[in-house]
Amino acid sequence: MSARSASPALRLPSIDSLLRDPACQPLAERYGRDALLASLRQLLDDLREPVLVGQLDAVELAPQVLAGRAGERLANQHRSHVRRVFNLTGTVLHTNLGRALLPEEAIDAVQMAARYPLNLEFDLHSGKRGDRDDLIEGLIRELTGAEAVTVVNNNAAAVLLTLNSLGARKEGIISRGELIEIGGAFRIPDIMARAGVKLHEVGTTNRTHARDYEAAIGPRSGLVMRVHASNYNIQGFTTHVPTAELAQLAHQHGLPLLEDLGSGSLLDLTRWGLPAEPTVRQALLDGADIVTFSGDKLLGGPQAGLIVGRKELIARIKKNPLKRALRVDKLTLAALEAVLGLYRNPDRLAERLPSLRLLTRPQADIFAQAQRLLPSLAHVLGAAWSVSAEPALGMIGSGSQPVARLPGAALCLRPNCSKRLRGRWLHGLEENLRSLPIPVLGRIDDDALWLDLRQLDDEPAWLAQLGQLQAGDPAK
Ligand SMILES: *Cc1c(COP(=O)(O)O)cnc(C)c1O
Repeated sequence: MSARSASPALRLPSIDSLLRDPACQPLAERYGRDALLASLRQLLDDLREPVLVGQLDAVELAPQVLAGRAGERLANQHRSHVRRVFNLTGTVLHTNLGRALLPEEAIDAVQMAARYPLNLEFDLHSGKRGDRDDLIEGLIRELTGAEAVTVVNNNAAAVLLTLNSLGARKEGIISRGELIEIGGAFRIPDIMARAGVKLHEVGTTNRTHARDYEAAIGPRSGLVMRVHASNYNIQGFTTHVPTAELAQLAHQHGLPLLEDLGSGSLLDLTRWGLPAEPTVRQALLDGADIVTFSGDKLLGGPQAGLIVGRKELIARIKKNPLKRALRVDKLTLAALEAVLGLYRNPDRLAERLPSLRLLTRPQADIFAQAQRLLPSLAHVLGAAWSVSAEPALGMIGSGSQPVARLPGAALCLRPNCSKRLRGRWLHGLEENLRSLPIPVLGRIDDDALWLDLRQLDDEPAWLAQLGQLQAGDPAK
């Protein structure tokens, strides 16, 4: 530093000269003159002090170098905020990471819908105005046995709209064991209140009997509701009334039974070795009049809420002015139709639907991948870390089957440092992984950083950026 302060004549170039310099022309083209001007001003401001104290030499103030630095700043500012990441958390349907990944068929359909006009609400047979729900009604009827369907923005919207359409100003009867909260402040009692339905809770947290419902039904009753408690589990001394019996009871009193399945599934997942989830078809067969479920949980499609069931009830729901506020757009419908189409051939579903393929990936396959990737990661991390391939347990996510575990494998990274420093090292590496061009998200557990490989599809992209990973002793 002291050697450089021997050249006191060094001065910053002027903004004007820089703007005119050929090195800056591509930046002006790309980002616009105003953005370039602002960026150069900021850069020169930041350099004023270092120049005064003689920290910089002439080479560092050359127009090409300054243009390069301004270009980096502009690129950072213009980088998209919606970013791809590697989800190596072990949770497949991760709500914070966008849940289900769409199959190629759905991606093609979304592109088509984005690029061209389409028959969103136009009946090509009659040449008259159509209804956007009609685009998927046939498929839904075929796959679930429902009479009719309507689609909204997500399942929370589906529950809100159904409750408001069928139960406003009346009582909704529901078991105390089903008054659940789903992540993100979706609570059944609150949604009921917002829907204008008066909550009439019956039974207890662990046991609700048919006679509890029976005693609650009266002239003010509007509907009976059942919520599939997908995200927790009550064990031990428990009783609940099966859907078939509850439906019978509701119908005897002229009330509809609404069942919120949450994840819901169109097929029995046990055929792929996954835990049993109630299917939409079975809920309807059992007598539920309306069933609601998500498009982007186990179904493996776009974010959407599907409302299926009896024709005259669906017609009432569609007439509700709130339907317009909650409806889905053309991109969602295009993706949804493509995903539903894959369900017509269950034999090939696990290879074509990414979420099902990832959920059912064999442990041996994931373990072999961990062993294959281990040497390159160990090489980058150096002696400061011990890297091993370990069995690991993943989760379905999105509140589905919270106690079920998916046996897979992970790269396990343990810092070779004193116990005192471990937390700092682990969080340092976690942050460095997150700072990669495609951020890598793992999880810290048991004094180690775990990268669960169940969802690492794009190995080349993962390996290509590994060289940029900063590792080693964070104290240095
Ligand atoms: C997930 C879930 C919801 C909310 O669905 P979103 O698609 O996230 O809006 C509602 N009810 C149950 C039972 C759920 O599991």
